[in-house]
Amino acid sequence: MQDVGECYSEEDDGMDAAERLINEHKLSRSECMELLARVDDAALAAKLAAEAVSLRWKYYGNKVYTRGLIEFTNYCKNDCYYCGIRHGNINAVRYRLSRDEILQCCEHGYELGFRTFVLQGGEDPWYTDERMEEIIRSIKTGWPDCALMLSIGEKSYDTYRRFREAGADRYLLRHETANEAHYCYLHPAGQTLRARKQCLYDLKALGYQVGAGFMVGSPGQTVECLADDLVFLQELRPEMVGIGPFIPHHDTRFAHEPAGSVALTLFLLSVIRLLLPKVLLPATTALGTADPRGREKGLMAGANVVMPNLSPVKNRKQYDLYDNKICTGEEAAECRGCLAQRVASVGCELVTERGDFCG
Ligand code: SAH
Repeated sequence: MQDVGECYSEEDDGMDAAERLINEHKLSRSECMELLARVDDAALAAKLAAEAVSLRWKYYGNKVYTRGLIEFTNYCKNDCYYCGIRHGNINAVRYRLSRDEILQCCEHGYELGFRTFVLQGGEDPWYTDERMEEIIRSIKTGWPDCALMLSIGEKSYDTYRRFREAGADRYLLRHETANEAHYCYLHPAGQTLRARKQCLYDLKALGYQVGAGFMVGSPGQTVECLADDLVFLQELRPEMVGIGPFIPHHDTRFAHEPAGSVALTLFLLSVIRLLLPKVLLPATTALGTADPRGREKGLMAGANVVMPNLSPVKNRKQYDLYDNKICTGEEAAECRGCLAQRVASVGCELVTERGDFCG
């Protein structure tokens, strides 16, 4: 933890950071630092979680939305140093799903009650704009009442426009870290925070519901980095925010780094719900990997989305972003059933709805 002593002055009107967050739904950078310095204060964490859950209740009731995640390719031209499917990992066993395989996932998912599909993958040039447009059109024609979310990395404005015109509704592109030096530490020189942010602003301009986000406890992350993340989220105002603990992958340079803290992730989920009250906030698979009840705890901290896996079981283990990823053995139906129970165990209900941003 850094010394935050100098940071109290900025808005010194008697209200502390937690009160400002709860009452005004905003935090300056120095207030973010002040709050993050108190992450071990269990009473504060419980207070923020209670406030976060009551806000979620106000806008979304007890509903938890599901997104059927279709991990359709693990080929990637990028080399994000933390990621198991980065280009340079020669041990990764690569696969691609055909259009028909993707459509089968949707068909099965629809029967199970999914009304949002997420196409996620590495940055795989095999899927040209034309091929992606064809896949997007087929999904939107086949299941017109469903939302389609893409999560396939950085593209040009023109490509994002084409995908939007083909019918894509949402786009998930975690910014990974809003701190310049930290971004450089996690990625090779060709990948820049500036380009990442530009993509997010382009997606917003094109009318996508946009998801940003970051890993908690990624190597080199400091409280300053997290403060930058919280400031950036307030500036971008995304409709979705995906956060989960960093988990090491054995074939990366960060293989021996510690995993991110579950407690800090939960704390940040509550803070993000309070900063962006209507945000769609997943209790992520990484959180469920780091803690057997991680996703339930995420819901109790203010999350309202879960993203079970709809990928063919034969490929699940190959989409190997980090070690020990959960839910790689079960059929999609089992995953949904299991999650429905988990969600119910914390007083929420897994619903069959698109779950659009309510703004
Ligand atoms: N190519 C897409 C999808 C990336 S994978 C894109 O660029 O958006 C989805 C997310 O998994 C990443 O955004 C990253 O935040 C997360 N991730 C990757 N490696 C991880 C690790 N070792 N631990 C935890 N999360 C990881």
